[in-house]
Amino acid sequence: MKPILPGATIGVLGSGQLGRMFAISARRLGYRVHTYSPDRDTPTGQIADIEIDAAYEDLDRVRAFASAVDVVTFEFENVPAPTAEAAEAEAPVRPAGLVLHTTQHRLREKTWLASHGFPVTRFEAIRAGGDLAAVWDGFGPAILKTAGFGYDGKGQFRVSSLAEAEDAWSAMERQEAVLEAMVDFEAELSVVAVRGENGDCVFYTPSANSHVAGILDVSVAPGPFSEKIVYEAQEIARALLSQLEVVGVLCIEFFLTKDGRLLINELAPRPHNSGHLTIDACVTSQFEQQLRAVCGLPLGSTEMLRPAAMANLLGDVWTDGEPNWSAALAMPDVKLHLYGKLEPRPGRKMGHLTATSTSASQSEKLVREARSKLHVERI
Ligand code: AMP
Repeated sequence: MKPILPGATIGVLGSGQLGRMFAISARRLGYRVHTYSPDRDTPTGQIADIEIDAAYEDLDRVRAFASAVDVVTFEFENVPAPTAEAAEAEAPVRPAGLVLHTTQHRLREKTWLASHGFPVTRFEAIRAGGDLAAVWDGFGPAILKTAGFGYDGKGQFRVSSLAEAEDAWSAMERQEAVLEAMVDFEAELSVVAVRGENGDCVFYTPSANSHVAGILDVSVAPGPFSEKIVYEAQEIARALLSQLEVVGVLCIEFFLTKDGRLLINELAPRPHNSGHLTIDACVTSQFEQQLRAVCGLPLGSTEMLRPAAMANLLGDVWTDGEPNWSAALAMPDVKLHLYGKLEPRPGRKMGHLTATSTSASQSEKLVREARSKLHVERI
């Protein structure tokens, strides 16, 4: 396919912060952006040239949207399959096909990974209305997760006995689920990987991620991992990019076990929260890479210019009123990103801070300090 050059129009399915940061990159390179979601005045819509506000099930609107753009991408992978197919009839959709189908469903993803020889946590499938007791044997502390749609720890229950697992499953209305052994991990890390239309692959250095209540809290890069672990994580990423035929960005989240093994926790076929620090710290951001990949352009350098750390800003930061932005911005190595969301609900990702410095640990110290200053009283 001929490259889609600046001046062309990119369609984004979904309208959250990932679409917003993608749209900012796309507009900087001279592209136009249309976004499609059931909402108005959205994070992506505020940056896009055109914001379409319609249901994903309204396939006539989806076709009209796709026919007005040169390529369609998405910012969340749970776009219903008929929506992606309707778009595909009018314009190329990237990434598409195998990677989208596989990563839309937790159980399908884990089954695919295990059957293709990738290292995953021990898990068992539980069919809707099936027999949980029959698969519990041998499980100790575990996590019960919905098989379908799920992100940021939603639809997950930590359980330590069959009785607790039965209760949790009842709370999930005995729908299809995955029972997963709890990993007593040393660290969590992720690799953002990119594959171009010509098969070229590039990788960012793994970031070390810490979560609070199942939601990413802080990412630090480069993470404190041995060369061997970095190499292994990137080789797993390389194999996944080609076997899943990705054209675009794929983030692989890993657990590093205490005995030094990497287990894949989850895949995301798009830019990822742990890669937001690439905007301020790397030659090319993960969002510009998505643009380059879906447009069939050469990929950019993933080199880090400075070590960095990112701290998420959830709606909880607004509990005592508008945060003290000036206090954080008074720190010269700290950058503020806000997503234009109108309502700061607890647990909602409203923005993030990035700090860059001479070391990853100093960056982490700075970004945590900047976030804590948001609560400091204004003078
Ligand atoms: P997920 O939505 O599956 O990525 O889970 C969100 C977070 O919950 C992960 O990043 C981990 O911190 C934690 N978590 C999920 N699954 C497991 C597991 N099997 N063992 C230990 N922690 C887990």
